Amino acid sequence: MDRRPKTYGALADRLEVEHCRGMRRDGTYCYQSADHHVGDVTPDGVIHWADRQMQWPGLVRFLKLVVISQNPKTVTFKPWQRVYLLNKHLTGVAREANTRIPTKYLRADRAFVRASVASLSNDVPLRKEAFDWSRREAGQTWD
Ligand SMILES: [Zn+2]
Repeated sequence: MDRRPKTYGALADRLEVEHCRGMRRDGTYCYQSADHHVGDVTPDGVIHWADRQMQWPGLVRFLKLVVISQNPKTVTFKPWQRVYLLNKHLTGVAREANTRIPTKYLRADRAFVRASVASLSNDVPLRKEAFDWSRREAGQTWD
């Protein structure tokens, strides 16, 4: 079985996303306003992310940037809908990367979604799915 890539460069190759480390191939610096240490996605879909040792918080953030690069922003969505959809796609991207995100790194997103939808009616688009997802606990993160 394939293992999760050990570097961000290898991970970007596996997921077929364009990855900028802050330095171009010709040796000049990337002048995008992107902060390569925090990480960002530019409208051209490029993920700007400085190389670093791979640790869970960074890896989760990088995978979220991959989802964002593959799913252009929809302004009509409310923040909780965006967070829910981001996490829904995140499962698939993590699987492609041969990894599984420990539930504790998704807890803050779940709490935010749960609090946001608690008082909404089930007629609101995505509300029921988002609420069910927000209540899922450890060991049940795979859909
Ligand atoms: Zn860059």
